[in-house]
Amino acid sequence: MSRPGWRDRIEAARTQREATSRVRVRRSVTHRDGARCLVDGRSLLNFCGNDYLGLSQHFAVVGALQDAASREGAGGIGSHLVCGHHQVHDALEREVADWLGTPRALLFGSGYLANLAVVQALLGDEDVCVQDRLNHASLIDAARLAGCRLRRYPHGDAEGAIRQLRGMPEGAAMLATDGVFSMDGDIAPLRELALVARVQKALLYVDDAHGIGVVGPDGRGSVAASKLGPNDVPLQLATLGKALGGYGAVVAGDADLIQHLSETARTYIYTTALPPPQAAASLAAVKLARAEHWRRSKLDELVGRFRDRAQRAGLELMDSQTPIQPVICGDDDTALAMAAGLEQAGYWVAAIRPPTVPEGRARLRVTLSALHGVADVDGLVDAMAKARERVRLGLVETARREAVLAR
Ligand SMILES: *Cc1c(COP(=O)(O)O)cnc(C)c1O
Repeated sequence: MSRPGWRDRIEAARTQREATSRVRVRRSVTHRDGARCLVDGRSLLNFCGNDYLGLSQHFAVVGALQDAASREGAGGIGSHLVCGHHQVHDALEREVADWLGTPRALLFGSGYLANLAVVQALLGDEDVCVQDRLNHASLIDAARLAGCRLRRYPHGDAEGAIRQLRGMPEGAAMLATDGVFSMDGDIAPLRELALVARVQKALLYVDDAHGIGVVGPDGRGSVAASKLGPNDVPLQLATLGKALGGYGAVVAGDADLIQHLSETARTYIYTTALPPPQAAASLAAVKLARAEHWRRSKLDELVGRFRDRAQRAGLELMDSQTPIQPVICGDDDTALAMAAGLEQAGYWVAAIRPPTVPEGRARLRVTLSALHGVADVDGLVDAMAKARERVRLGLVETARREAVLAR
């Protein structure tokens, strides 16, 4: 028998990661207070989180979580279809449906699980899922789990999407895209994609994990920002772990589709319901996100300021108007060394390397939050310009590179 041994196999993979400096390390946060984190005994200003609106530590959000926990306990205790479905889940689903202007909404354990649910419940072997090349990993995995055919088109290319759909005229079709792209920060051409979907009788599904709360009128996300509604986009994903500062996700859209998901999606049925305190926290967060427009205005101001200063400092930005502001470094080592230099200066920024992004496009993924101040942003840009100089001159210690957290 020539079956490979498990230990040899993972050892070889590890050696490979080391050789290409793609070892991944976690960092432990000992305390977090607003945009500041205590990491390995050092206070860092966080520019890599997704708490865009700064709601995760809001007193009303934390208060709702504590109240629900003291009344209802910590856990979900069962799946939704058995005994885990709670009134607070209903209230949250209704609030999100009302916010997004959709007939119904359904709560999931996470955005990852929700994406698996949508594709698996609606597509089978004979069907096709057409996706943007830069879609989130969970959408790619969703198509694999569904067993359908997966076809990808070049980033943001509606022509490419229609070509892929035309090539697969049999079977049901879904056109799935991120609303705001997680690594580039740009917004999908949703009006064009809606037209493509209509012509090709494909179901348009928008994963708006990074758009909800942040873009569009009242923070209703990239679908609303594109002036589209549930007729054009029958299903969309809002996650609760990013701008809403909690955990979990909601799929919102057409009532019949939502009903179908609730009775057939494996990642809805065979998993424990989101703990009621988490649902209560998200309910409070959605209310704040809808009402407190100043959080979005502040983000807009910070985005404009960051772009302006970074451009003047000669940093290479991407075409993004959202709080996701990648700074292109090129090769992996430059990205890692710059992240290490920034950490020494007190800034926590994620270096994102292949395979998460294409080869040669390693970057620092800066994310802005309403928790930041203008002085924080100015300080970051200065530190980036300095870090780049130090890297050019070869002054950043390479030994520290391994310690840099990379996604
Ligand atoms: C974060 C993210 C997800 C996964 O959501 P979780 O709730 O963290 O599981 C899905 N899609 C996109 C585009 C994301 O950025």
